[in-house]
Amino acid sequence: MLVTQTSLRTYMMCARRYYWRYRQCKVRIHESDGEAIVTGKNLHALLAIIGRGEDLGAPPADDAPAEAQVAYAMASAYAFRFADSALCQGGVEVAFRCPVVEGADTAGQIDGLAIRPDGIWLVEHKSTAQITGDYLERLPMDLQLHWYAGWWPESAGMEGCLTQAVYSVIQKPTIRLKKTETMPEYCLRVADWYKADQTRMLRQEMYLNPKRVEQFRQYGIEVISRIQEDADWLPNFDACNQYGRLCSYFPLCNSNNRVAILSSMFEDKAPFSELPEDLVKGEIG
Ligand code: SF4
Repeated sequence: MLVTQTSLRTYMMCARRYYWRYRQCKVRIHESDGEAIVTGKNLHALLAIIGRGEDLGAPPADDAPAEAQVAYAMASAYAFRFADSALCQGGVEVAFRCPVVEGADTAGQIDGLAIRPDGIWLVEHKSTAQITGDYLERLPMDLQLHWYAGWWPESAGMEGCLTQAVYSVIQKPTIRLKKTETMPEYCLRVADWYKADQTRMLRQEMYLNPKRVEQFRQYGIEVISRIQEDADWLPNFDACNQYGRLCSYFPLCNSNNRVAILSSMFEDKAPFSELPEDLVKGEIG
């Protein structure tokens, strides 16, 4: 059994949702990622290139998808803004896997590791529609980083946990490529857009409290034990329409799990597709 920080949180949100995604490996047919998610994925790939100290290369063509154009403009502005943008000497997209309890491993992929005189820092990139005070205040609550801080050192054969992280928080530009301009011109305009308001692209350094890292680690172990013993996969109806977004599995739950709904609206998709295939091949939750 494999557990990621995302699958753990899915279980805690709704055991039935976890069951459909991680045990039955079902997703909605034609449920593709939205524009914001695609832009975020493109941006992460480009920031990994920058993190390795390599050149971004040629910009996408003028008729490339908007997600690729926006991500490229964001990444080039990031490289322009931060002189040490190639800070990930410890590696980028660092994938890891290690045992948590008997019969269960955890795995993850860290955006980057920075080696600084005072130790190893986790590097995390976030892109968001808007950077508000609330958003920044919530960053220290990011459970994903706490999970990585606890388990990556163990996977690397090190004692203790990581206690430092550096966040890049990048607001998505509200300006798009005009029909009358080229990609390089658009990139300059986006760089100016960030320059006009420095709070649109931020670096935040953060201390990760080892007690909180350990608490989350213990919490994760408890939840994994519950998953291992779960046979009922109880629904949590409070989570069906959370944050105004209807759960993908609502048609199933709402029809009392009708087989016809399952076969007509859902398809098989292996879980953990966000992680490298050789790390998770054939795994279910
Ligand atoms: S529809 Fe509601 S009960 Fe069903 S899986 Fe989704 S969140 Fe859980």
